[in-house]
This record gives sequence, C-alpha cells and structure tokens, in this order.
Amino acid sequence: MEQPEELVTRDCLGCGFCCRKSPCFLGEIDPQKKYCKHLVWNGEKWRCELILKSKTIGKALYAGEGCCSDANTYQRYKVIPTPEDLKDESALLRRITRRKKCVSPK
Ligand code: SF4
Ligand code: SF4
Repeated sequence: MEQPEELVTRDCLGCGFCCRKSPCFLGEIDPQKKYCKHLVWNGEKWRCELILKSKTIGKALYAGEGCCSDANTYQRYKVIPTPEDLKDESALLRRITRRKKCVSPK
C-alpha cells in the first residue's frame, strides 16, 4: 500500500483559529463567546490556558508541533486577530484578503 505523504506543517502563529473552529477533546464551548472557554488572549496571541498550566496536556494535544490548517485565512495571510477583530470577523477577513499578500505553503 502506498504511504501517505508527510504532513506539511507551518509555525503556529497563535491565531486561535483551530480552537475557535474545531475544539479538541478537552474543549468546552462558551455559549456567549461561541468558542472554547480555555482559549485566552495574552495581548499578542491566542493561547490555551490548559496547555499553559500542564506540559502533559500540551504534549497530548501536540502543542508546538506546528500548524496544518491550510484552509485557515489567518495562517495563509499571517494575521493574528484580536478579540476586538472577532466582533466582526467577516469584515476582518474581507480586509485581510483585499490588502495583504497571501503567503504560499512551503
Ligand atoms: S496557527 Fe494554526 S495551530 Fe496555531 S493557533 Fe492558528 S490555526 Fe491553530
Ligand atoms: S482546550 Fe485548549 S487546545 Fe482544546 S480547543 Fe480549548 S483552547 Fe484549544
């Protein structure tokens, strides 16, 4: 049987897209925010507070292993949205795709 190609990853930006759109098995959705309640903004990037507290959890969730989210506009355009940006995410995505240059996968 043919072996699958090696998974291509990029450096994690800390954009939080993965945790907002597809929470892991430890994720718990905050009904108001509509994304995982453990996802926190540190003023520069999005971080998982569970991973910050436990290396074991970080290892189980492959933290630091890179990003394989190619369909993610934030990763493709190297943009980190702030909590303020997320109040009108579709407007932000329109601005990003109009103004910034897309960064091709490796
Ligand atoms: S860059 Fe990728 S792995 Fe890192 S937070 Fe964004 S979507 Fe998740
Ligand atoms: S528990 Fe942490 S890694 Fe999992 S979805 Fe929530 S913020 Fe992301």
